[in-house]
Amino acid sequence: MPVTVQADTTSSQATPERAALLEFRNIRIVYDNAIEAVRDVSIAVPEGGIVALLGSNGAGKSTLLKGMSGILYTEEGVIENGVIRFRNEDVHHLRPDELVRRGIVQAPEGRRIFPALTIDENLLMGGYTRTTAEARERRDKVFALFPRLFERRDQIAGYMSGGEQQMLAIGRALMTDPVLLALDEPSLGLAPLIIDRIYEVIVRLRDELKMTVLLVEQNAQRALEIADYGYILETGRVVLDGIAKKLVSNEDVQEFYLGVSASGRKSLRDVKHYKRRKRWLS
Ligand code: ATP
Repeated sequence: MPVTVQADTTSSQATPERAALLEFRNIRIVYDNAIEAVRDVSIAVPEGGIVALLGSNGAGKSTLLKGMSGILYTEEGVIENGVIRFRNEDVHHLRPDELVRRGIVQAPEGRRIFPALTIDENLLMGGYTRTTAEARERRDKVFALFPRLFERRDQIAGYMSGGEQQMLAIGRALMTDPVLLALDEPSLGLAPLIIDRIYEVIVRLRDELKMTVLLVEQNAQRALEIADYGYILETGRVVLDGIAKKLVSNEDVQEFYLGVSASGRKSLRDVKHYKRRKRWLS
């Protein structure tokens, strides 16, 4: 059973108590009829907030996003139990293109861009569901968010730096005018200054464009700095959730995800009480 950090009722930030735009309810996802990647996960993403989904390798973060985007079938994955609701409607049976039309859009991990096309062409491809004039208008908004992409708009995307490719992947997702944008590890492999640029944009998406963001990260420190609420996943389960500011100061989170503790950094294996708690949780 997930442990909920005591709710901060004085916070004006988006928390699951506010109307959820997107909800995962008791989701179980299995690959190849055999591998249970996600077990009974419930997550609420309130409208206009940034929700961080944290956890280490193999925790099930990407699997949940694939479930949300309707692309599990490409990997023999199936939602065996539970529902995903968006604006109070069940959406887990919808096709990926229908989900995008409803405004659920994911910028994938690994910066899957078209490497042989220019930045400009990549963006316009991302706006394929729109008229040419609309696509250009949206592209200009993406350029306003990422001036770096504007400066390099005629360059071949495959030759850009990792950070620029990440900006492009996010920019391309924005071309569809999402209501909810899911980002899969946007800080992966990037230098701190580049992460700063990208995270500034994520905050602007919430604060200026009123977008809802589901931020999947291994980088708990960074994600909790900008998120309103966080969920921590371990081996397919939510083990902790709470208001981001409270999670940052939570002892377990500090020890296992932020590398901070009174006696220095500890590994999960070193801490007996956590093992006991984990047993209790399972
Ligand atoms: P990472 O940060 O490393 O991407 P993650 O939290 O996103 O990790 P997932 O990729 O969702 O984790 O993986 C969850 C579990 O499901 C893991 O045990 C993984 O091995 C398994 N898994 C993921 N994709 C598949 C697949 N296509 N077929 C079988 N098992 C899979």
